[in-house]
Amino acid sequence: MTTDSEFARVSSEKTDFDVVVVGAGFAGLYLLYKLRELGFSARALEAAGDVGGTWYWNRYPGARCDILSIDYSYSFDPELEAEWQWSEKYATQPEILRYLQHVAAKHDLRRDIVFATRVESASWDDDSAQWLIRTDKGDEVTCRYYVMATGCLSMPKAPDIEGSGRFRGEVHYTSRWPHEGVDFTGKRVAVIGTGSSGIQSIPLIAAQAEQLTVFQRTPNFSFPAHNGPIPAHRLADYESDCAGYRERARWSRIGVPSEPATIGALQVSEAERQARYEAMWEAGELVKIGSTFTDLILNRASNETLAQFIRGKIRATVRNPETADTLSPKDHYVITKRPCLDTNYFETYNLDHVRLIDLRKTPITTITETGITTASESFEFDAIVYATGFDAMTGPIVAVNITGRDGITVRDKWAGGPLTYLGLMTTGFPNFFTVTGPGSPSVLSNMMVSIEQHVDWICDCLKDLRAENLAVIEPTATAEAGWVQHVNDCANITLYPTANSWYMGANVPDKPRVFLPYVGGVDAYRGVCNEVVAQNYLGFVRSGPGQRRVNDGVIRRLQPDVQRMLKMLTSLNLPLMNEMSPEGARAFSKELAATRPPGPEVGEIVDGLLPCAEGDIPYRLYRPATPGPHPVVVYFHGGGWVLGSHDSDDPFCRDLCVRSNAVFVSVNYRHAPEHRFPAAPDDAFAAVQWVANHLESLGGVPGQLAVCGWSAGGNLATVVCQMASAAGGPEICGQALITPVTDCDFSRPSYTATGANYILTEPLMRWFWDHYADPADRLHPKASPLRAQDLSGLPPALVVTAEFDPLRDEGLAYADALAAAGVTVKHLPCRGQIHTSVTAVDLILSSAKARAEIAAAIRQFFQ
Ligand SMILES: Cc1cc2nc3c(=O)[nH]c(=O)nc-3n(C[C@H](O)[C@H](O)[C@H](O)COP(=O)(O)OP(=O)(O)OC[C@H]3O[C@@H](n4cnc5c(N)ncnc54)[C@H](O)[C@@H]3O)c2cc1C
Repeated sequence: MTTDSEFARVSSEKTDFDVVVVGAGFAGLYLLYKLRELGFSARALEAAGDVGGTWYWNRYPGARCDILSIDYSYSFDPELEAEWQWSEKYATQPEILRYLQHVAAKHDLRRDIVFATRVESASWDDDSAQWLIRTDKGDEVTCRYYVMATGCLSMPKAPDIEGSGRFRGEVHYTSRWPHEGVDFTGKRVAVIGTGSSGIQSIPLIAAQAEQLTVFQRTPNFSFPAHNGPIPAHRLADYESDCAGYRERARWSRIGVPSEPATIGALQVSEAERQARYEAMWEAGELVKIGSTFTDLILNRASNETLAQFIRGKIRATVRNPETADTLSPKDHYVITKRPCLDTNYFETYNLDHVRLIDLRKTPITTITETGITTASESFEFDAIVYATGFDAMTGPIVAVNITGRDGITVRDKWAGGPLTYLGLMTTGFPNFFTVTGPGSPSVLSNMMVSIEQHVDWICDCLKDLRAENLAVIEPTATAEAGWVQHVNDCANITLYPTANSWYMGANVPDKPRVFLPYVGGVDAYRGVCNEVVAQNYLGFVRSGPGQRRVNDGVIRRLQPDVQRMLKMLTSLNLPLMNEMSPEGARAFSKELAATRPPGPEVGEIVDGLLPCAEGDIPYRLYRPATPGPHPVVVYFHGGGWVLGSHDSDDPFCRDLCVRSNAVFVSVNYRHAPEHRFPAAPDDAFAAVQWVANHLESLGGVPGQLAVCGWSAGGNLATVVCQMASAAGGPEICGQALITPVTDCDFSRPSYTATGANYILTEPLMRWFWDHYADPADRLHPKASPLRAQDLSGLPPALVVTAEFDPLRDEGLAYADALAAAGVTVKHLPCRGQIHTSVTAVDLILSSAKARAEIAAAIRQFFQ
């Protein structure tokens, strides 16, 4: 094997390159290969003495990948795939490093790498359109494109422990392990930290040391790796069609081919849930977590079932109950911190010479010359091992003084958290790329797949620039802000932000708390990156001699779960409702509603009939679990006056009942075309009159009656308010109108912009109107309440509009008209939502915030 020193410094006369790459790990090596293949001159600068990156530095005992070796390898070179055989399911650090050295040698990559050289600064010069790179060895190199392939976990976090420089014995960092190894035989050893590196190294250190004391601040969820040969079925799958296997990985959620889960953890019996968890445990693969249940990272109660299962496994393994309890994570949800794979980790605590110290109970007060002192005890050690983790994702980037246009630095720009477009570039820093940067799937994925995707994207981008005689590329501020918003939207529907994890920057003092990676999935992300290119580099400004092409825009404006739902519906290729008969459409929507999960539990549900001149009207009453009496809300379902029932809106009513602590009376009304206008508003008004007259017997509070409705139901809710106002009663103290129909005008911009692709389409809306009312009737305020002459005196209103809803602008117009008439109005615009998603309880988590605000507004009506 070649030694590091042989590669220490490649000297070269050349100091100007098309591309400078920082880092020679998996990413840097593939970049060099690819850039050379495309004919770009490139130079890599690497702080380490040889290639390998992570696998050069992290040589601690037990260091391995925790993604199957066959998945954790390059896919760009079929010859390499055929010639390299991994010896284990999870390869060790030495084997992965050998693999990278082999790749470097095979493609003669080292000749373009300067080792033992740390990049200290990079500055952009607008006039020459070049980057000037300076290193700790005093080199100055210029380049047109500057790519940081510096890794997400390459900046060790310095231990923030009082006295850490004082210890006179051996000190080791898992992330900077001596190349010659360490012999702990006969020694008293301390390990500080129980993240992945601690969990991997502790069993092996324990096997050598005379005494091992582990200092734990946060216990972590860890699964048994069951390491050994690569499982035969996985190997067969890979070898039978390697190219197809890789393609499946590229379009999977985390970069490993797997079957996605299809059911939530609470939708199966306890016995089945346990059986699935046992199978997951036995598989010894992190990817199985995602293919067991759909909602483990979305739903607290679901996640808790897995947490309990794992805690049970820890209790069954660790003999000392107090130690088992200390090792059991209770302060975060499973997956919200990087879960670990281990070999005999929990078993190690059954060894007599191994002791666990809970730093939550007895924190370290200081490190002394001879050991460690905690709040309750002093320990003497021969060696201390720090497994204290990394300043993840942003650390290696902001460690370099990168100055972009107008003298701004990345460090300053990212002071409140990283701002990127696609995790690939940042506005104000032309021609500067990051591989697996913040805002991309990176550490939430099989990094090999994400690295290759980024390298391919960057290289294709440079190739496209060259082909079009362009030289400079930079994202627009709008595109970047849109992407940052989308990254946050994705994170915010998950449990991830609830944990104090390194994903959130929480392990580094003073680091902003921002969820760093993109949680939308490798597949979705790849789709986005491809779309950006297909739309002619949407969100970028590209310029070159005599030309400047600005293609401003935001690539993802829908909420992520809405986007997924639409994609799923498109893939089902469902028939169009507006091409069905009303009966057919009703049956179809009923069928769809039956597949939806129910809403939350309420105190009581009563079905009843309320009398009306034209026949009894069925209603469903939802009573909160809290002691009554309660305020009462009469609710009208959506469905374009043609479809729907209290069944179709049942989850939404339950949700609002619980959130607003009010009785909800969801009333049906006669449907068109059998009963055309004005049957529906007449029924709705009759229902409100009846409820008003029976408030107390329904468990209501006298004088506390409001109305609420969604879509056509929102139309009826406000029409009822107008009718009550004209009739002198009943008294209504508020109206909550959720994406309501308020007019029959199809010319508003929201119809033009969003009338085709977001479930409620213009043709469907026309179909509803045609069944409901004659053209002349449509202009009547009982059909189009926006057309009422006088809106003054109506009850306070909440008007909810959705960004991607043809009805958005008429909702907005109604809110404005109410306000102009002196009515108290709150307008709640729902960004990234569609007409149907605000009411889609449990399907669209991103609209939960809107539902909470609706409930708050309803409570406000009664104050
Ligand atoms: C112990 C451990 C286990 C892991 N296991 C897995 C796994 O199983 N699966 C998985 O997907 N991921 C895993 N990872 C993540 C791992 O980092 C990536 O998979 C992958 O190795 C990253 O490759 P990279 O080339 O992007 O970055 P790195 O391998 O981190 O390489 C970056 C290189 O950049 C150099 N560098 C940084 N800053 C500078 C500078 N200013 N000047 C010069 N050089 C610089 C560093 O010295 C380093 O060599 C693991 C990480 C660790 C720490």
